[in-house]
Amino acid sequence: MEEILNFIGGKFTPCSSGQSIDNLAPATGEVYSKIPRSDATDVDIAVAAAESAQPAWSALSRNERSAWLVRIAEALETRSEEIAVAESRDTGKPISLARAVDSTRSVNNFRFFAKMLGERQQETYAMSDATNHVVDKPIGVVGLITPWNLPLYLLSWKIAPALAMGNTVVAKPSELTPMTAHLLCEILADIGLPAGVVNVVHGYGGECGAAIVAHPKVGAISFTGGTATGRVVAASAAPMFKKLSLELGGKNATIILEDADLDLAVAGAARAAFMNQGQVCLCGSRIFIADSIRPEFTRRFVEQVEKMVVGDPSFEDTEFGSLVSHEHRDKVESYIELALREGGTILSGGARPELSARLDSGAFLLPTIIDGLAQDSRCASEEIFGPVVTLHGFSSDAEVIGFANSTEYGLAGSVWTTDLGRGRAMAESIDSGMVWVNCWLHRDLRVPFGGTKNSGVGREGGQRSLAFYSEAMNICILDD
Ligand code: NAD
Repeated sequence: MEEILNFIGGKFTPCSSGQSIDNLAPATGEVYSKIPRSDATDVDIAVAAAESAQPAWSALSRNERSAWLVRIAEALETRSEEIAVAESRDTGKPISLARAVDSTRSVNNFRFFAKMLGERQQETYAMSDATNHVVDKPIGVVGLITPWNLPLYLLSWKIAPALAMGNTVVAKPSELTPMTAHLLCEILADIGLPAGVVNVVHGYGGECGAAIVAHPKVGAISFTGGTATGRVVAASAAPMFKKLSLELGGKNATIILEDADLDLAVAGAARAAFMNQGQVCLCGSRIFIADSIRPEFTRRFVEQVEKMVVGDPSFEDTEFGSLVSHEHRDKVESYIELALREGGTILSGGARPELSARLDSGAFLLPTIIDGLAQDSRCASEEIFGPVVTLHGFSSDAEVIGFANSTEYGLAGSVWTTDLGRGRAMAESIDSGMVWVNCWLHRDLRVPFGGTKNSGVGREGGQRSLAFYSEAMNICILDD
C-alpha cells in the first residue's frame, strides 16, 4: 500500500490532521494507496511556501523559466510509461489511451508553453507625444483545481502557463486520481525546481479545494470540474475579485447532416461519444441525425460501437475500460433507468459487461446507445459524463441548430457534412466555445479552449492562458 504525501516547500509532508483517504483502482475495486486528507491548515502552509518562493521565481528571466519548463518536460518524458500505467490504474481508462493522450499531452503541455512564452509579444502603442508599454506582471500565488478524467493532462495544462508567467502554484488534484500529480512532484524534486514554486495538497474538494479558493493570498483560481462545483467556487472567489477561469460541464451535440461521409461520421461519432468511457467534457453525448439517413446511420453506429473491445484497462487491445468509481457508475446507471421511464429504448449496452473474475468488483458499464427520447428530456439535456449517448432525428438545419442550442451548456460540438461551407455556417450558429467539422478533439494548443453559458467562464489555450496567468499593466511615458 503506497501512502503519498503533500508536496509543500519542496518537501513531501504529511497533512496536519494525520487523516487519510483511500484511493481505489476502479477496474478492480482494490484500495492501493492512501492520500492525505488536507484541510485549511495545510493550505495555509502551502500558500505561505508559494508566497515566499514567488519573488525569486518571477525574478528569473523568461528564458530561464522557459528552460525550467523544458527540463520538466524532459524529465516527465523519461517516465512516460510510468505515467500512462499510473493514469490507467487510477482512472480505469485503457492503457493505450493513457499513453496516446495522457502521458503524451502532459509532456507536450510543458514544451508548448515554454515555446509560447518565447513567442509572447510585448505590446507598445505610440501616441503623438507619448508611448504606452504593456507589461505582463505575475499575479503571485495561483490556485489550480482539477478533475479526475484527464488528471495530469489537465493539471499540466494549468501549471505550465502559470509558472511561465512567474507565478507560484498551490494545486489540488482530484482525490479520485491523485497518483500522477504525486509523480510530477517526485520529478520536480528530482530536477531541483526551486522549493515552493509548485505545491500540491491532496484532499477533498469541500475541505482542501474550498480552502484554496477562499485563501486571501491566492490571487487567481483556475478550476476545471463540474458546473455545480464551479458555481460554489465562483461564489467564494468573486467577492475577493480573484481572477477566475472556470472550465465546466458540457452536453455536446454531434450533428450528422444528410450529405455526411458516413464512414467518417460513424467512426467519428462513436469516438466522440465513448472516448475515455464517455468521460471527456467534450464528448458528443447527443447525436442528431438527418431524418433521411437516420436508419442507416443508426444501424452502422450500433455495429461500430459493439465492435469496441471492453475490458481490462491494462490490456493492450482494450478500447473501453472502467468508469472512474462505483459512485459514478451508480449515477450513470440512474440516468439509464431514467431514460427508460422517459420513454427511451436501449439499442445497445445499458448493462454491466461479463468480464474475468479479477474485474468482478470493477466499475464497468457497457457503452450505451439510447433512442426514442425527446431531445429536451432530462437524459438528453443533462450532463451524464459517462458512456451514454442519445440519438435524435431532425428535418432541417434550423431545427437542429435549435436542438443543439437548447441545453444550459455551451462547450463543444461537431458537424459532419461534405459541404464545408454549410458545415462552417452551422458551426457558427452553435452557441458553444468550440465546434469541429468532420473531426472531433482535433487539438491545436494555440486556439481558445472553453465554454459559453453554464460550461464556464474564460478561455484557456496558447496566449490566452498566458494572459490569464498575468496582470496586464500599462506604462505611459511622455516623450522627451
Ligand atoms: P468536480 O466538480 O466534482 O471536482 C473537480 C475538482 O474540484 C476536484 O478536485 C474536487 O475535489 C474539487 N472540488 C469539489 N468541491 C469543491 C469545492 N467546494 N471547492 C473547491 N474545489 C472543489 O468534478 P469531477 O467529477 O472531478 O469532474 C467531472 C466534471 O468536470 C464534469 O462535469 C466535466 O464536464 C468537467 N470537466 C470539464 C472540462 C472542461 O475543460 N470544460 C474538462 C474536464 C472535465
